Amino acid sequence: MIIPDLQDLPRTPYDFTIVGSGPAGLYLAEALGRAGRRVLVVEQGPLDKPLNQGRGYYEIDATGKDYPRLGERLAAFGGTSGHWGGMSRPLSAAAFDERPYLQCRGWPIAYQEFANHLDAAKKWLGHTFGPEDPAYADPQDGFLPGPSAGLAAHQFAASVAIRRLGSELRPWIGTSRRVDLLASHRVVDLALGEAGTRIASLRVMNIRSGDTGKQPVDQVILATGGIENARLMLAAGRDLPAGNPLTGRHRRTGATFMEHPKFVGLEVYHDDSFPLADTGWQVVPGRVMKMRSFSLQENVFKKLELPRFGVMFWGEADENVQVADFINVLDRVVLAKQRKYRLSRPEFEFEQMPRDRSFIALSDKTDSHGQPLARMHWTLGEGEMRDYWKSINVFASLLSQCGAVRTRLMFDSFEDFAQNAKQLIQHHHIGTTAMSADDRTGVVDPDCQVHGLLNLHIAGSSVFPNADYVNPTLNLLALADRQARYLLGLKR
Ligand SMILES: Cc1cc2nc3c(=O)[nH]c(=O)nc-3n(C[C@H](O)[C@H](O)[C@H](O)COP(=O)(O)OP(=O)(O)OC[C@H]3O[C@@H](n4cnc5c(N)ncnc54)[C@H](O)[C@@H]3O)c2cc1C
Repeated sequence: MIIPDLQDLPRTPYDFTIVGSGPAGLYLAEALGRAGRRVLVVEQGPLDKPLNQGRGYYEIDATGKDYPRLGERLAAFGGTSGHWGGMSRPLSAAAFDERPYLQCRGWPIAYQEFANHLDAAKKWLGHTFGPEDPAYADPQDGFLPGPSAGLAAHQFAASVAIRRLGSELRPWIGTSRRVDLLASHRVVDLALGEAGTRIASLRVMNIRSGDTGKQPVDQVILATGGIENARLMLAAGRDLPAGNPLTGRHRRTGATFMEHPKFVGLEVYHDDSFPLADTGWQVVPGRVMKMRSFSLQENVFKKLELPRFGVMFWGEADENVQVADFINVLDRVVLAKQRKYRLSRPEFEFEQMPRDRSFIALSDKTDSHGQPLARMHWTLGEGEMRDYWKSINVFASLLSQCGAVRTRLMFDSFEDFAQNAKQLIQHHHIGTTAMSADDRTGVVDPDCQVHGLLNLHIAGSSVFPNADYVNPTLNLLALADRQARYLLGLKR
């Protein structure tokens, strides 16, 4: 049911109050409602048309590397699903392992504990189309015409009709008897109870009138995205004594912000026998599209001590390439044959490792509601940049073993790459309320419950302790499915 105003809410707490109605929040709302619990979803954005008059994005203060001021995350019912790309692939098992050579602890849960929930997440996204053809099965052999030692192909999927939750779930939320929605209302504060071990109430602002009120709560789930989950906790804890559970006993809230940086650093000249010249989407019978990327075999990542990455070929870069012509001439002279080469400049999508130098904090600047903006201090260290440059070199050299391909590095040296490579972002906000069994190294425990608080939980990619290189949404949905079971156990 849709609740028009804060004043219309019942004074007795719902079993669960979910803040944020993106994929994470709505997955949990559906699952908890289906199991008979009373759920309130509070969403700061409107029920529809998030981008009216340029509004609907939430603003950040970026003090590290360049980042769009509006972060591209949508504020509306359905969250950022209103314009996400739908591209999905499960996290790799290797990302769950400790990787001491990258100073990376890994996840505090076994891979299988996460993977058991992937089927539910795939189904929710519409990514299942028969057990004989699982959406994410990687092609084993024959993806290169020639030796492919060290290279691997990774399969991504998207549904043909990408889920836009706002429009799709509006009829459901309008008639649901268990799940209520309070849209155009923003949670601006979390108030602790006397003992300091529970959230007693939320301060909620009506975005249209500016009026605020207090809503008592039972169990609370923050599902506001990887920037706002941390910002809200930091804002709520800023006037409390140091060591409070909102900012973290060891000040971990907001630490280790991660993105998936993308770089273009390699030109690939290939003839028509190169099957992955364009890794663009292919529609397969059913409701799914598939796309492949290149990556490295797991043992190669390990041996070379590299962070994870994938390489996407998005078609031809240029029809008339002088260097390609030069290679054609060379082939004619040296190999006595003429080939017709095309040029691609593939995108390298990288894993960023969790580091304290990259974080979310509170800015001194405030937004139109008088709330402190999130200060995003996103950085990439020299070590990471060196790893990325090494990865591009390794990939180029492995790809060169394929006869149909010539490669050319676009930068002369690491220094040239570090200074001049254009770096792109993916709007993936990861790791600011990381999962850890120990509150010295994370914010939530392995059940996604905030350390030191009995009724505060977090859903979304902010709980990922590391990021792999793959898109987060399928994976945060699998975690939400796991979290739903835990939450149902708390409110039998
Ligand atoms: C352009 C773009 C393309 C993308 N493409 C892909 C892709 O192809 N594949 C992929 O896996 N991921 C993609 N993503 C990322 C994907 O959108 C996110 O992983 C996903 O939306 C995260 O879901 P969420 O529920 O955690 O957060 P969101 O979808 O961001 O939802 C959070 C919701 O919380 C609300 N909220 C925030 N603060 C408050 C508050 N204080 N009070 C009340 N409500 C609040 C917001 O208004 C919002 O509606 C893309 C992102 C962008 C921007």
